[in-house]
Amino acid sequence: MTDFQHEKARLTMTLRGMGVVEADVLSAIEQVPRELFVPAALRDHAYENASLPIAMEQTISQPYIVARMTAALQLTGRERVLEIGTGSGYQAAILSLLCRRVYSIERLRPLLVEAEAQFRKLRITNITTKVGDGARGWPEGAPFDRIILTCAPASIPEALLNQLKTDGIMVAPEGRDRSQALVRVRRTETGFDKEELLPVKFVPLVED
Ligand code: SAH
Repeated sequence: MTDFQHEKARLTMTLRGMGVVEADVLSAIEQVPRELFVPAALRDHAYENASLPIAMEQTISQPYIVARMTAALQLTGRERVLEIGTGSGYQAAILSLLCRRVYSIERLRPLLVEAEAQFRKLRITNITTKVGDGARGWPEGAPFDRIILTCAPASIPEALLNQLKTDGIMVAPEGRDRSQALVRVRRTETGFDKEELLPVKFVPLVED
């Protein structure tokens, strides 16, 4: 098996060309073997800058979007990060290199079983997962320094806003199907500041 060195280098060059300047994010993308998080039949496409189908009609996000979302979280290495929508586990693996601990929730158990197998294979030990409805967050672990959604709610659930620390940052796709925007929310002493970053297209957040 090749280790995709050439394809990896080409991908990070593409991302740089698209304006991703954060060296730590690019280095995490070079370190995490994306081929382990895509279906075996699509392994040769693992380093294309494209979203790809995974099991159960879900998708692994496009590397450019993973990079932008990760950068938008402004991680220093010390944070506890909540992720909603583990999916393949790729985004969680990237985050695990850049923060202290990742808490990731997925509603589809078979996806979580597969993601956890990859975390073990890569000897990643700072990701905690659970099956459940991410719209409710993870009250036992709250509050979080950062929250990232990789599935899109029509509008950001109240429970998640409440589980964000003051000065914390949340990055999420928001809106239904055709008109989604990636937004960044900062919690202040008095409320929430929200900015739109770019248009995106994510699978919907499904509430159980
Ligand atoms: N971060 C993932 C992206 C997966 S796609 C990756 O890197 O591969 C989004 C995921 O969100 C899907 O797996 C979907 O099952 C999950 N999802 C949708 N609604 C959810 C909810 N309410 N709670 C938890 N996960 C949810």
